[in-house]
Amino acid sequence: MNSVRLRGHHLLCLLGYQGLGYSHEFVSNMTTIYAQLRSMPQTSVTLIGGVDDLCAKFPSSKDYHCEDSHVHVRDRVILERLGYHEGRSYPWHILQSKIALIFDASDIDILCPTCPWRPYGLCAEGIQRIKRGHGLAEIP
Ligand code: SF4
Repeated sequence: MNSVRLRGHHLLCLLGYQGLGYSHEFVSNMTTIYAQLRSMPQTSVTLIGGVDDLCAKFPSSKDYHCEDSHVHVRDRVILERLGYHEGRSYPWHILQSKIALIFDASDIDILCPTCPWRPYGLCAEGIQRIKRGHGLAEIP
């Protein structure tokens, strides 16, 4: 079982993942990571700052935003609210439980105002889902 490296805001992006993404390669990689976290929630996740295992497959043909300052700020705010620090590792299910405790669906509008995925509402639904005690949803 591989450990996974994630930046702060991707903890929330994963909750709303439905198999959509920036390119075929990006989706393939994110689906692999998502499926592992879903089927093996004991997977160790290391919290990092900056480019992580999801950013690693961001396509060069798209507008690169992974190092934008507002994205780093989003990462920091989310980790601070969770009380976690970069460099620490936790099983995914522990992170998921803490997110369910700390965040509400309405936080997505506040945390991610510029994200093009936000209007779909999937990330907010993902938070509601884990707050009801469910794990990650099956990808349709
Ligand atoms: S709105 Fe965008 S940045 Fe925020 S959790 Fe969803 S996909 Fe991630």
